[in-house]
This record gives sequence, C-alpha cells and structure tokens, in this order.
Amino acid sequence: MPDPIATARAAGRTLLSEVESKDLLASAGIAVTAARLATSAAEAVKIADKIGYPVVLKVISADISHKSDVGGVELNLKKASEVKAAFKRIKAAAKEAAPKSKMDGVSVQKMADRGTEVIIGMTTDPQFGQVMMFGLGGIMVELMKDVAFRIVPLEPRDAHEIVRDIKGYALLEGMRGQAGVDVDALERLVLQVSEFAAAHPEVAEIDLNPVFAYPDGAVAVDARVVLAEVDAPVRETRAGLADRDRLHRVLNPKSVVVVGDKGPNYQWLTNQKEFPGPLYSVQIDEKEIAGIEERGFKNFKSLAEVPGDVDLLICAVPRQVVPYVMKDAIEKNVAGIAMFTAGFAETAEELGIQLQERVVGMANEVGMPIIGPNCMGIYNRRLGIRFSADMEHAEGGNVSFMSQSGSHSASLTNEGQFVGLEVTRTISMGNAAILNEADYLEYLADDEDTQYIGVYIEGPRDGRRFYQRLRDVTKRKPVVIFKGGTTEQGASAAQTHTTSLATPTALWEAMVRQAGAIPVVTREDLLDAMIALVKSPPATGRRMALLAGSGGQSVAISDSAGRAGLQMPRLSDESYERLKEFFNTIGGSYFNPFDMGGTIGGNSIRGSESNLQKILDILAEDSVLDAAIYEIAGGLGGQPNAERLNRQLDTIDAWRVGSWKKPLLMVVNPGSHPDGYELVRSQLVARGYPVYPSFERAARAYDRIERYYADRAARV
Ligand code: ADP
Ligand code: MG
Repeated sequence: MPDPIATARAAGRTLLSEVESKDLLASAGIAVTAARLATSAAEAVKIADKIGYPVVLKVISADISHKSDVGGVELNLKKASEVKAAFKRIKAAAKEAAPKSKMDGVSVQKMADRGTEVIIGMTTDPQFGQVMMFGLGGIMVELMKDVAFRIVPLEPRDAHEIVRDIKGYALLEGMRGQAGVDVDALERLVLQVSEFAAAHPEVAEIDLNPVFAYPDGAVAVDARVVLAEVDAPVRETRAGLADRDRLHRVLNPKSVVVVGDKGPNYQWLTNQKEFPGPLYSVQIDEKEIAGIEERGFKNFKSLAEVPGDVDLLICAVPRQVVPYVMKDAIEKNVAGIAMFTAGFAETAEELGIQLQERVVGMANEVGMPIIGPNCMGIYNRRLGIRFSADMEHAEGGNVSFMSQSGSHSASLTNEGQFVGLEVTRTISMGNAAILNEADYLEYLADDEDTQYIGVYIEGPRDGRRFYQRLRDVTKRKPVVIFKGGTTEQGASAAQTHTTSLATPTALWEAMVRQAGAIPVVTREDLLDAMIALVKSPPATGRRMALLAGSGGQSVAISDSAGRAGLQMPRLSDESYERLKEFFNTIGGSYFNPFDMGGTIGGNSIRGSESNLQKILDILAEDSVLDAAIYEIAGGLGGQPNAERLNRQLDTIDAWRVGSWKKPLLMVVNPGSHPDGYELVRSQLVARGYPVYPSFERAARAYDRIERYYADRAARV
C-alpha cells in the first residue's frame, strides 16, 4: 500500500480521500469500515462481489468534502445491478456539484449495521496544539454542539472523562429500555486516535464522523484526515527559562534599583522603602533628584555608578528610554528587570510593537529575565517588595498569585490579605514578552514559599507548555485559575467538524480540567476557593452538615447546597435520638440543615449555650458527614454580644481541631448588621476560618475544592 500521506503531499493535497484516510487509520489499528477505490462501475461491482453485499458507494473527488450533501453516498446496495445504477447516479451528482473537476471514482465498502452515531475528531489549536474531540453524532453535534475536548496525548483517565463530559452521555449508557453501547470501545478508539495523532504531527485534523457504536464494539464508517499545510508555521513551544537562578534572584532580590521614578509620589521607591537590602535610585532629571534625596533615597546619575550587584531593576522610565536602560542593565549584569513602563505591544501600534521586539531581542541575547512590560512587577511579602506602600511586609505566607492584569495583581494581594490569606508572592505578568505564564508557573511549582497558586489570565502566551506545567504541579499544589475574556472569535472556515467546534472557551475549559486545576469565573470565586483550600483540611466528600444559627433560612441554604451539587445526608438514627433529647424544635429543626437558633441561644431568648457543644459532638461522631458549613449571625436587630460570641467561637475552635477535623466553612451574612458583621467576620478570619458572606458562596467554594481533591486522588 502506498503511503497515503506521501501520495497526498506529492499531489499537493492536504485533504486525504476517504479511502486514503481509512487506509492510514486502519494501519494504526483503528476500527474503520475498510473502503476500496473503484474508478468504474465494473470495478465497483468486482469489489462488491468480493467483499460481499450489501455495500455502500461514496463519491471520491478532491473537490467534494461532504459527500452526502451532494448526493454522493449510496447505502445498502444489495446486488451488482444496484451497484451499477448507484455508480451512475453518483457520477451525475458529482458532475452537478463540481462541474469543472473530475471525479476520481467511488469508494466501495461493506454496509455496516446501524449503531448509535458518535463523532471522534482531532484538530490543531494554535495555542494547545493537537486536541481530541468527542461528541454524539448526527443532530446532537450539529444542533446542540454537545462535544468535549481533551489535549493530545490523552491518558486513559482523559478518555474516560471525555466521553462522560458530554451532556448526552446517558444515551450511551442506555436509558428508558434502550440498550447502552460499548463505552469502553469508544474510550479505546479515542485513545487510539490520540496516539495516532501524537505520532503524526503532520496531521492537523481528523474527523471520524460518524462512528457507529454497538453494544459490543464500535467502527468508524466515515473518515477524513487533513494534513497541515507544508509551510504551516511550526507551533513553537519554548523550552522554558534556562537560567532559573537568575529568575530566582529577581523574585527574591538582595538589592534593588529603581530607574526613572518620578514625583510627586515617587511610588516605586516609596513602595520598597521597607526592603532590608540596598535600595537605590537612578535618575538624571535634576528636578526629580531633589525630591528623591529629600525622601532619604540615595540617587545615582547612571546605573554604572551603583555599587555592588543588582538583582532587581524596577524600570519606570518612558518607553523610548527603555532600550538605553536595557543597555546599561546588560552592561551592569543586572539579574533582571520588572518593567512598569507601558506603551508596547499592548497598544497594537507599530511603534509600540517594534519597541517591544527590540526589548525582547536585547534581553534574549543575554538571557535576561524581564517581568512585563506594562506590569506592576512583583510583590514579595517577606522582603517588603510591594505594589503599594500599605501592603503587608511580614514573614511567612503560602499563597502565590500570578496575574496578567496589573490591577488584579494588586487587588488579589490586598483582598487576599483581607480574607485572611498570607500572600507570599504576586507576579504581575503584564505583556509577558519574555517570561510568560508557563515560566512563572514552573517557578512557583518548585518554590518552597508557595503551597497554593492563584492565576488570573486572559490569554496564554504558551498554552501547551502552560498546560504541561499545570498538569504536573496540580498533583502537588492546588491551582485556581480565573480566566478573563471569554468572548469567542468567529469560527473560521474549517475542513472538519471538529475544527469548527473547537472554540477557545471550550478548549480552555477542557485544558483546565484535564490539568487538574480549579476553574473559576470571577475574582470572588478565586478568593473563595483559595481560602477554602488554605484553611481547610483536604475535602474527602460531598456530604455536608449545614448549620444555621439564625434560623429561618433552611430552604435557601438547602437550595444553595443543591445548586453546588452537595448532599445533605440524614444523620444516623442514633444521632437523632440524642438530638431529640434537648433540641428546641419550636421554630427550629435538627434535620439537616440544622436550625439551631432556639437551641443554642444565639441572640434569641430560648436555648442554652451548652447545647452547642452537644450538637457539635453528635456531628463529629456521626460518620455520614464529610464537611460542614456553619452560619453565625452578625447580629439580628442589634450587635452580637462580643463575650458571648467569643465563648461560642472558643467552643467551635476546640471542636474543629479536637474532634471534627474536617473542612468547616463559616458564613456571616453582611445583611444582618454592618458592625456586627465586621465584628464576627474579623474574629473568624483572625481565628483562621474560611469565611463567606453567603451560604451560596461557601457551597460553591466547597464544591470546587472537593472536586479538586477527588480528581487528585484519582490521578495519583
Ligand atoms: P459525509 O459525511 O461525507 O456526508 P458519510 O460517509 O459520513 O458521508 O456518509 C453519510 C452517512 O451514511 C453516514 O452518516 C452514515 O449514516 C451512512 N454511512 C456511511 N457509510 C456507511 C457504512 N459503511 N455503513 C452504513 N452506513 C454508512
Ligand atoms: Mg461523515
């Protein structure tokens, strides 16, 4: 058999015929209904006689891609005379559809038994490279676009998930008396196509549409393989930053120089004023020098004059001056630059783009790491390197953020502190002209200070490497990703269905899931998930105890949990027996959710404080629970009694670490009383709880972290 790829290339084609496509795939062991080319009616009959009736004839022409659209598919031909007549009809149909081109012949193949139609495909994405698609065939894919994606190469677990990701999966399993199909066979097929694609980087697209799935086995009855254009740019994946040590120096500097800071605030110098190592200014403008020296910073007129090694250079000069600063920095052998200066490629202006290219060229020549440009640089809690002078400067910390947006870099750091996260580093990526999200992730993956990673990203610069790093790091450290900018670019003209369905959003979501990261869609969600991760032991299940101190909310609470896919199990009979003895059920309930207001005597008239301990003990001893969400009233019709609150929190604290030992998320509703809310909230944050302003947000955060831990457990 001639090599179908070589044949197509020789003829200057990228689209392989059905016969060529199936030959190629069959040689990789992929189940297809083998098709043979016949150039005449007589030859078609000869082949049909040999393979046995009934057969199918399909048009083969370089100009006809969708064969049945032009009347080019003849099914269920039972004898020679029918084959002859079908050949004639196809020839006439082809002439009408593509009058100028010649038909190469027809494919002849066995008529396969009807099965459930699915589509298995592969396309090449500019960001992520080869990706696989799975969907239900026929109108489900046309109309509902019910498809799922995974990045090549797939592992068995990815194949398992891709078929279960589609909404119509129940149909494959069998429902309402309909027999299911051989899902294992479909998973195998997906894996085989993934392997084939990985072994053939020159293959850009594949459509197996449809695949017939049976109760036993599956077979592709149509196949279309598309090669990459010969001169298609090879998608470049950078190897990563060779000089890790240099990036380490930039992110953990022993010396800092600010170039070009300006009044009235001299923000870059002022922000770093607590930095313990040498901090110098370089400024040539006499007007500014006075202000800088007045504030106690030592200024030099050139970088060359600065004594000692420089680890971090913060560049705040106007853009046209940047190449001169770079030249000096290279001569001084500065470790790296955080470039606040904007006006580069992000402007989409010729001048800005050129300037950025120049900067990239200069940096790459000497392997200099550059953060940005157009960014806020870095925050380092321990060293007091900051985006603003009011940010924390302290030891410790375990959370790191990286953000494409400068304002999110600052707000995530500040708000993170507000909700009780110890943010150890934040990297503002800006234009990511030299170092990009994959480089930073690679660094944070091995960074001892970083145990949890939060990412804000709009569009990755190096999607495939980011995915690879991400997939690796999530086995050790949770990563929460907030993706901004989800608008779709218009679908391009595509040869295969798979390509037309591979939207950036669909691929991004598939990538995040496949990599085992936690996807979120807002900044609140990002912080909500982060605090649940940092401030809870690993989640081990979805069975929740929902506890409300303020009563009356039970239905809404149950709804929130239900929406997040959490369960509220019945406790054991024994637990209910014990609860019955003291629980005040007048306006309360000890079914899950627990309405405890009248029992533990929150701000209400009834109840006794000691009952809280009894309830908590019963919960800890009941094995049906995995986690709890507990609402504390922020004061109804008045401020909570601070002493009483303290006693309540002491009880909960002791229980949490002593006998409960499972995730416990706290809710304080800001609607109740503004001062009371802040009192309770800050107390809880200080005591190390993950705190949420609503059950809804707590439930959603728990859902996310539980999925992460479940996924991680299944992967290792
Ligand atoms: P195209 O996608 O180019 O229009 P297909 O080869 O997919 O053409 O054929 C159209 C339809 O004909 C398929 O969706 C399938 O239902 C049916 N079909 C194609 N080949 C076979 C076959 N060998 N056995 C049974 N049915 C087939
Ligand atoms: Mg088809």
